[in-house]
Amino acid sequence: MNTTTILQEILIKRSQQKKRTSPLNYKERLFVLTKSMLTYYEGRAEKKYRKGSVDISRIKCVEVVKSDGIIPCQNKYPFQVVYDANTLYIFAPSAQSRDQWVKNLKEEIKNNSNIMVKYHPKFWTEGIYQCCRQTEKLAPGCEKYNLFENNVTRFPSPMPEKNVRRPPPPVPPVEENGNEEEEIVVAMYDFEPTEHHDLRLEKGEEYTVIEKNDIHWWKARDKYGKQGYIPSNYVTGKKSNNLDQYEEGSSGIRHYHIKETLTSPKQYYLAEKHLFNSIPEIIDYHKHNAAGLVTRLRYPVTPKKTTAPTTAGFSYEKWEINPSELTFMRELGSGLFGVVRLGKWRAQYKVAIKAIREGAMYEEDFIEEAKVMMKLTHPKLVQLYGVCTQQRPIYIVTEFMEHGCLLNYLRQKRGVLSKDVLLTMCQDVCEGMEYLERNSFIHRDLAARNCLVSDSGVVKVSDFGMTRYVLDDQYTSSSGAKFPVKWCPPEVFNYSRFSSKSDVWSFGVLMWEVFTEGKMPFEKSSNYEVVTMVSQGHRLYRPKLACKQVYEIMMMCWQEKPEGRPTFEELLHSIIDIAESEDAF
Ligand code: ADP
Repeated sequence: MNTTTILQEILIKRSQQKKRTSPLNYKERLFVLTKSMLTYYEGRAEKKYRKGSVDISRIKCVEVVKSDGIIPCQNKYPFQVVYDANTLYIFAPSAQSRDQWVKNLKEEIKNNSNIMVKYHPKFWTEGIYQCCRQTEKLAPGCEKYNLFENNVTRFPSPMPEKNVRRPPPPVPPVEENGNEEEEIVVAMYDFEPTEHHDLRLEKGEEYTVIEKNDIHWWKARDKYGKQGYIPSNYVTGKKSNNLDQYEEGSSGIRHYHIKETLTSPKQYYLAEKHLFNSIPEIIDYHKHNAAGLVTRLRYPVTPKKTTAPTTAGFSYEKWEINPSELTFMRELGSGLFGVVRLGKWRAQYKVAIKAIREGAMYEEDFIEEAKVMMKLTHPKLVQLYGVCTQQRPIYIVTEFMEHGCLLNYLRQKRGVLSKDVLLTMCQDVCEGMEYLERNSFIHRDLAARNCLVSDSGVVKVSDFGMTRYVLDDQYTSSSGAKFPVKWCPPEVFNYSRFSSKSDVWSFGVLMWEVFTEGKMPFEKSSNYEVVTMVSQGHRLYRPKLACKQVYEIMMMCWQEKPEGRPTFEELLHSIIDIAESEDAF
C-alpha cells in the first residue's frame, strides 16, 4: 500500500447526518490524502487522532458543490466526496485549496470502476437535495457527472502516474431516458413580480423550472414562454409527494372522514368507540381527546393557510431597497437601534422600517451580514426584506407583524390566552430557533421582547444576531447595565461564550415569560444578584399556568453545562409531545 501523503490540510467537515435526529455540525479536521485512503483526524499534524477514513477505491464522485445559500462555517469553498451510500461535504478555506483537493482526488479515483454517471451538484440539506429537490437521500443524481471535464481550474498534476495496473474505466450504462426531463411545478400562490427579471405566478398554473442556482429564487418559464425568477416556496413539484411544501410550520393539515352509523337515529363518529348525536359534539369531544386519532383536533383550517408566505427579499438578488419606494406611516415602537415605523413598499406591501439612529450600530458589518440574513427564510422568523444603505440613516426593512412585540402582547392579553395557546407560542419560537440552529446561526438575545406576533397570532423570532452590531457597551458587555443577564446561562455572563446551547437557555426563560403572561424574570433581583443566584444553582420557579411537563422542559434548558441542555430539535419534539398528549393540562 502506498502511504505517501499527496495532500494534507486542515479543512472543515460537515457531519453526515446519518440519523435524521442528529443536528448538523461543522468540525475542523486534518485531512490527509494518500494513494489508497482519504483520512481525517482531529487535532493538528503533530498530535492527531484518527476520526474516520474513506478507501479511495470506494469513492464514486468528487466534485465542487455549487452553493448559493448560507455556508454556516468559516470555510466557504465546499466540495463533495461520494462513496458507498454516503456523501462527505468538505469545506476548503480558498478556491485554490478546493481546486487542489478536487483535482488530486479526481486523479486518484479516475480508474475506479464505480464512478457515477449522474450526481447532485448541490447540497443535501433539510431533507432534500437543493439542486433537484428530491427527498430521497439515495435519489439518483440530477446532473451528468464528468470526471475529467471538471468545475475546477486545471493545475499541473503533482504526481506522475505510477500505478497503471488498475481496472479499465467502466463503460457508462446507457441512460434510460436520452433527453433530460424538465421539472414542472405548480404555483400554490399568486406572485406579482416587482422587478423586470421576475416572473408572475398564477395559483394553480404550471411552470417549467430552468435553473435553481439560488435556493429561494428559481428561474422558470410560463406557458407563454416568458422567463423570469419565481420564489421557490410559492410552487410545488407536480410529481412530488413532498407535503412539507403545503404546510406552514410543522403542523400539517389532516383530513378526517366523519362516518355515520346505520342505526336510527343516526350517530356520527371519527373513532369507532366514540359515537355522537351531532357533528358539533364530535368536534367538541375530539378537540380535547385524541381517542384513537393521530392528534386531537387542534385548530380549524383558517384562511391563514391561504396567505402567501414571505419571500427571501422582494426579488432575486435584491437586498438594496430604493428608499423612494417606501412610504412611511405610523410609529410602531422604538428600540436600541432607533424608531420603527409601519410603511409600504411600492405603495402596496406593508413593511416595518427601522431607521438606524446615528452611532447606534456597526453599520458596515451589518450591511455585509444582511445579505446572509436575508437568506434565512422560515415561517417562524421575521423576514428581512432588504436594506437602504445609500443614505443616512440607513433603513432595515422587515416583515410587518400586526400585533407587535410578544412581551407586550402577553401582558395585554393576561387571563385571556389558554395554556394551549401559550404552548403553541413556545412551539412557534422553537420552530424558528430550530431552523437557526440547523443553519448554525446563533440568536444571542432570544427573549419575549425580541419576538413579534402576527395578525393571526403566530409568533416569530426577530432581531437574530443583531446584538453583534450594537455600539452601546452597556448592552454588549456582560457587566453593562443593559446586558440581558436574566436570559443568559453562566457561560455567557462569565465568559461571553455564545452558542445554540446558550440560545436554548434563553428559550427556557422565554417559555417562563410566556407562561407567566409576561412577568419579569427574577423580578425582585438585580443583575448582580441573579449572577450569584444562578451560579449557585438557583432557577426560576414554576409558573402557575405551566404544568409539570412544561416546567420540566424549562428546567432542561437551564442545565448548568451547555452540553447537558437539549437541542432545539429535541425541544421541539418534547413540546409537540405535550401538545398532542390529551391529558397534559
Ligand atoms: P431594536 O432592535 O432597535 O431594539 P425592536 O426590534 O425591539 O428595536 O423594535 C422596537 C419596537 O418596534 C418593538 O418592540 C415593536 O413594538 C415594534 N416593531 C419592531 N419591528 C416590528 C415589526 N416588524 N412589526 C411590527 N412592529 C415592530
